[in-house]
Amino acid sequence: MTDGRESLPPGASSGDISHILVPRQEIQRRVEELARQIGHLYEGKELTILAVLTGSLIFLADLIRHLPIKMRISLISASSYPGASTRSSGAPLMGDLPAALAGQHVLILDDILDSGCTMAALREKVQAIGPSTLRTCVLVRKFLPGCPARPEPDFVGFEIPDRFVVGYGLDFDHLYRNLPDICVLRQDGETQ
Ligand code: 5GP
Ligand code: MG
Repeated sequence: MTDGRESLPPGASSGDISHILVPRQEIQRRVEELARQIGHLYEGKELTILAVLTGSLIFLADLIRHLPIKMRISLISASSYPGASTRSSGAPLMGDLPAALAGQHVLILDDILDSGCTMAALREKVQAIGPSTLRTCVLVRKFLPGCPARPEPDFVGFEIPDRFVVGYGLDFDHLYRNLPDICVLRQDGETQ
């Protein structure tokens, strides 16, 4: 991870992005490492990855291509950052969960663990369906020392500072998901 101000990724305008936080090469290395660990843990089993849309889309696509096991994909929508906001509403909206998760080895895959509300709510919903096993994986976890009651994911890609990030699937007001790196969004009043 780097805090250095590097050149901006394609698709980013310098007015919107402050700097690259996790460069693409580092993301790829870590995603491959996570896939190895997950593959090892579920060796000989069939895994169902329940991916939280839309932010985990690119993470999911990269991760599963390095997973050497039998697996299925299931998708669910959740949003705690409605519209052009960088503050969590604390009220994730979700679609229906597929009943087919009963008896399956389920791994919930999300982009970011922030307050932990989304993961806690989703975990509870999936648990109620009766999976055979249930684990969780997030690409990034925000460093929030004042938030000890957050759920502890089984797999974490990166620990990052408490800044609003975009890129590699993550958006601000539906923009910037296409940036290949994880970038810090420039805040109002922050100088260029
Ligand atoms: P939580 O429920 O943990 O507070 O929020 C988790 C959800 O909020 C994540 O799945 C993610 O979609 C969104 N989120 C939290 N922090 C950020 C951030 O820094 N950038 C973006 N783009 N989304 C975030
Ligand atoms: Mg999300």
